[in-house]
Amino acid sequence: MPNPTTARQLMVASQLRDRGISDPRVLNAMLRVPRHEFVPEPYRAQAYEDHPLPIGDGQTISQPYIVALMLESLHLTPGDKVLEVGTGSGYVTALLAEIAAQVFSIERHASLAESARKALAALGYTNVCVFTGDGALGLPACAPFDAILVSAAALRMPPALVVQLRDGGRLIIPVGSQDSQQLHFIRMVNGQAVSSLREPVRFVPLVPSQE
Ligand code: SAH
Repeated sequence: MPNPTTARQLMVASQLRDRGISDPRVLNAMLRVPRHEFVPEPYRAQAYEDHPLPIGDGQTISQPYIVALMLESLHLTPGDKVLEVGTGSGYVTALLAEIAAQVFSIERHASLAESARKALAALGYTNVCVFTGDGALGLPACAPFDAILVSAAALRMPPALVVQLRDGGRLIIPVGSQDSQQLHFIRMVNGQAVSSLREPVRFVPLVPSQE
């Protein structure tokens, strides 16, 4: 890998800006967060490449472009309180922590949650809290949220997440089977969930708690 800062600048220019990502908060966060610190040693040299990478426990750190697309869709502002489902490596948690005020994140694998906590603490993020548990249930004790980002594909929209959005809140989530998934976007408007379909994607499954 060349100098990580140079690699990151190249990633942002060629994989994000050139493909239409324009929210300066998203672009700046992706310039700042050292993605290689969230990638296991054997794959570090590929940390700024245009694809997902293994992070252990059969899971992956998502492709940078898809992360940027999901972040941009949420129209985050600096005062936002955000819920992330599927902490994984903690990379998206760090990006959210750069942009928003407070980030709550849930991961079902205790080992991934622990290494994400360590990576986030080592980088000095103090506005994040990583929980182990079933993210499909959200975090009712900390709701309502301004935004919810789900990094694993649900077979159906989890109703518990929708009710944890405040009015004006936004949710982005991949929905579908392993063969066919699409990003779904929801905005709460006067107590009504208004949804729209976005890009086709491919994520690891959101595993329900009973499995
Ligand atoms: N944003 C992460 C993506 C990790 S992949 C990153 O960039 O590293 C998705 C993660 O969702 C996996 O770590 C997986 O273990 C987790 N996951 C799957 N089902 C879950 C559930 N029901 N609750 C919480 N986490 C879940």
